[in-house]
Amino acid sequence: MLRSGLIAVWLVWASTGMAQERIPVVTTTSDLRSLVEAVGGDRVAATSLVPANFDAEDYQEKPQDVVRVKSARMVVRVGLDYDLWFDRVLAQAARREIQRGGAGYVDASYAIAVLEVRGMNVGPGDGHAHGSGNPHYWLDPKNAEIITGNILETLARLDPPNSAVYEANRTAFLARLGDKLKEWENKLAPVRAMPMVAYHNSWPYFARRFRLEFVGFIEIKPGVPPAPSHLARIIATMKARGVRIVIREPHEPERDVAFVAARAGASVVILGASVGALLGANDYVSMFDANVEALVSAAAAR
Ligand SMILES: [Zn+2]
Repeated sequence: MLRSGLIAVWLVWASTGMAQERIPVVTTTSDLRSLVEAVGGDRVAATSLVPANFDAEDYQEKPQDVVRVKSARMVVRVGLDYDLWFDRVLAQAARREIQRGGAGYVDASYAIAVLEVRGMNVGPGDGHAHGSGNPHYWLDPKNAEIITGNILETLARLDPPNSAVYEANRTAFLARLGDKLKEWENKLAPVRAMPMVAYHNSWPYFARRFRLEFVGFIEIKPGVPPAPSHLARIIATMKARGVRIVIREPHEPERDVAFVAARAGASVVILGASVGALLGANDYVSMFDANVEALVSAAAAR
């Protein structure tokens, strides 16, 4: 009796001990959190800082973000000026291991072929302006190979005994993603011939992978809301090009998008550019599932 009690106590102790060994990881976005979980599995405890349906490019860091980052062994950011506010969080956390160049620091954009690099000057009033090229690279599922490669390298360095586990997790995830990619390409075939307009230019990587065409954006430039003259130009473009689909992300202003769609005789389709932005799209794969379904059913309805 006493012995089995002791064993039970030991089991509880051992299992909580195991739980505490999980590597604490903080990511800026939910997309990166999902990809960290795909590689790390139950060896990591990952949290993301920007809540779903917030504009990560315009996020104001909170004191609790610094607290979270202070206890992280690994941090993962989008980079490319997308999450510049994270530099302030890292500075306040003041821990060398997770600073730029530290063993636990991951800039997920490393080795990504960046689109729309224009070398433009960014001044006040330019919004976030995508000044280092378009940063929405995780929306090409093929780029998950590079992102998870960056994550794997750092996890294996921090936790060498489990490096084979991380590698196997990543291989299995990429195999599943490869199958899904074929499915998404097939489903999106009817959408390829349909030019589209979006509020914000989140979609060049997605569009390139699935051969979709965006002919304009409702923002004047990334991060700068539209003026009436710009709305009139977009409506004219939509009429000239026969645009029937306008894309809005859930956090974007409903009014301008609805106005443009109504004037041009188009439908509004709501897509999520990050994990959790759409209901039920709570991981990287289901985010694409939800977006593909939304586009396919909008195209079918036209
Ligand atoms: Zn952007």
